[in-house]
Amino acid sequence: MSRPIQAEIDLAALQHNFFRTQAFTTHSRHFAVVKANAYGHGQVRVARALHQANVDGFATLRIEDALEMRQAGLNEPILLLEGLFSYDEVKTALEQQMSVVVHHHEQLQLLQKFVVEHPDYSQKIDVFLKINSGMNRLGLAPKEVLETYLQLQDCPIVRDLFLMTHFALADEPEGVQAQMEVMYWVMEQFKRYDLKLGEQLRCCLANSAAIMRYPETHYDWVRPGVMLYGSSPFTNQTAEYFDLRPVMTLRSHLIGIQELRPGERVGYGGVYTAPERMRVGIVACGYADGYPRHAETGTPILVDGIRTQTLGRVSMDMLCVDLRHVPEAHLGSDVILWGRGLPIDQVAAACGTISYELMCAVAPRVKIVEI
Ligand SMILES: *Cc1c(COP(=O)(O)O)cnc(C)c1O
Repeated sequence: MSRPIQAEIDLAALQHNFFRTQAFTTHSRHFAVVKANAYGHGQVRVARALHQANVDGFATLRIEDALEMRQAGLNEPILLLEGLFSYDEVKTALEQQMSVVVHHHEQLQLLQKFVVEHPDYSQKIDVFLKINSGMNRLGLAPKEVLETYLQLQDCPIVRDLFLMTHFALADEPEGVQAQMEVMYWVMEQFKRYDLKLGEQLRCCLANSAAIMRYPETHYDWVRPGVMLYGSSPFTNQTAEYFDLRPVMTLRSHLIGIQELRPGERVGYGGVYTAPERMRVGIVACGYADGYPRHAETGTPILVDGIRTQTLGRVSMDMLCVDLRHVPEAHLGSDVILWGRGLPIDQVAAACGTISYELMCAVAPRVKIVEI
């Protein structure tokens, strides 16, 4: 048998979570966010399972990833969340029917340049004009939006236009109010300019947290990410509370057991000292598998289904677990690092990070198994 670590991907749980996501919205279409290799779950695998569940579209970052989905036969709309990075991507986007974000003027100019060089081009794509409503990452300043929108409308390769923004605090107590005020202001500018145009505006605003908490953000398209993978974006409401099921279960085995006497230490730096006689299990999982090295003693972990804790420093290929409450544990015992029976959000909280980082970090050497 090979090294026992593997990430199990539960596609039925993914589909269930998608149905849960749909239940939050009444009239919106859903771009399933599959960037970063579907948060470490495997982009094409996830996209196929969501296609079966009749998802409306996908959102990703790199045009190569979008192409991979097209090559897998997925014909839904695909939104490129950071838009085009260079002129040579315009043609591919048109040919492959990818929707693009435009978040600065240079991206508008790429489209305009293409029109100049291909005056008779007949294909069109949808454009999502991104507004900086307060996160101060990507997007046009609110006062530039109307003019840029009109320029895009004049661009013959642009089909439908949508306003887009991203919320910085949808998962925090502060919420989306301040950014929604900015969006309402932008919409008001359109109405003043042309009432009909203002009333026909279409929008794509909400991430998972906004989908779950703020129905006023839903509009035409929403962009669920982490909730599809069975994690809650909120620190005060669990995934279970929302009936979201873990999609990824990272599991391994005990490959060693040590009997420690009081005062003996484990692992690099000797940062954990046995307070009494105890058994310590050695798990085939380390930071080179994507488990966070900064997980300290006390991070929750399951051994043969029993919740216990990590001990000492995580090393490259191994970590240590406390077997004091798992007397039956033996070589080959099943270990769950996160997933079924141990919510990834709890592990993330214990290591001072978020589920997103843990999921995305699972290393290529970890075998992925669909269940
Ligand atoms: C990643 C991303 C999302 C999904 O966010 P979740 O918090 O995972 O739901 C939505 N929109 C944009 C622009 C993103 O980059």
